[in-house]
Amino acid sequence: PTGPEGPASRFRLAPDPRSEAAHRRRLLRDIDGAVQSNAFILHYQPRIALDSGERTGAEALIRWQHPRRGMVPPAQFIPIAEKNGRIGAIGGWVLQAACREAASWPEPSIVSVNVSARQLEDGLLLGQVATALELSGLDPERLELELTEGLLVDVAVDMLLMLSAIRDLGVGIALDDFGTGFASLGMLKRLPLTTMKLDRSLVRNLPADHEDAAIARAVIAAGHAMGLQVVAEGIETEAQRAFLSACGCDEGQGYLFGHPLPAGALRPGGAA
Ligand code: C2E
Ligand code: MG
Ligand code: MG
Ligand code: MG
Repeated sequence: PTGPEGPASRFRLAPDPRSEAAHRRRLLRDIDGAVQSNAFILHYQPRIALDSGERTGAEALIRWQHPRRGMVPPAQFIPIAEKNGRIGAIGGWVLQAACREAASWPEPSIVSVNVSARQLEDGLLLGQVATALELSGLDPERLELELTEGLLVDVAVDMLLMLSAIRDLGVGIALDDFGTGFASLGMLKRLPLTTMKLDRSLVRNLPADHEDAAIARAVIAAGHAMGLQVVAEGIETEAQRAFLSACGCDEGQGYLFGHPLPAGALRPGGAA
């Protein structure tokens, strides 16, 4: 037999489920330590107005300075933290650190902060946002929360109410990674959104791919028809920037304008 259960599979370098579980347990223990010891840091990626080229603000992106693994990207620990009840503590820290940092930026720059749908489900988000605003003194209009499209498909009523209460403080609400999930335009209408962020998968093949070009144009028009600010992620080339700008896309982020960097590099007089 040569199928997946055949003798050859005994020599496969498949992940051992026991060592994977051990790896997850170790990571969780390390996450708890990291919250205590301030091992998380935020990098900031500039956000640019596509017509003027001026900086409108920056997105805060978490990294973990792990004593042995080095700089760990969020994709490697945020999902584990979400599944194991650790995202509340991390999310609270992120909000406070980002608001404190943005309070030192020239007005009216906005800071956008990624939040997990779990923070809404837990009912913690409104309190965390209010605390971060109060401690930093940041004008609520200068904070925007980013929620991932994929996590919002099934929004419960109390999550909607909490989101609306946060919006009522003056805080902006962005739908992140638009174009990757199954959010319908009808669902968008139910959310108290201010901003739509086009996922970089919609930007990647612009402007050469005619279908992607048509989709990007239509999505930007739909966003504007709903009164939203439209931001494109993952702009890496001048041709992408020019196309999106011609489509009326308001703002962009991406390596063309700047990589995520520690806060000091973004402050006036900083290195970037
Ligand atoms: P996101 O919010 O969609 O962030 C954009 C990601 O694309 C970032 O990856 C950024 O470094 C990367 N990126 C920016 N410009 C370019 C570009 O031109 N080309 C390419 N190829 N990539 C680009 P990062 O920092 O690894 O973050 C990944 C995801 O982790 C974020 O996606 C967000 O969903 C999540 N995340 C980051 N920080 C936090 C946080 O504080 N809390 C929560 N809950 N999630 C976070
Ligand atoms: Mg984001
Ligand atoms: Mg995004
Ligand atoms: Mg994305």
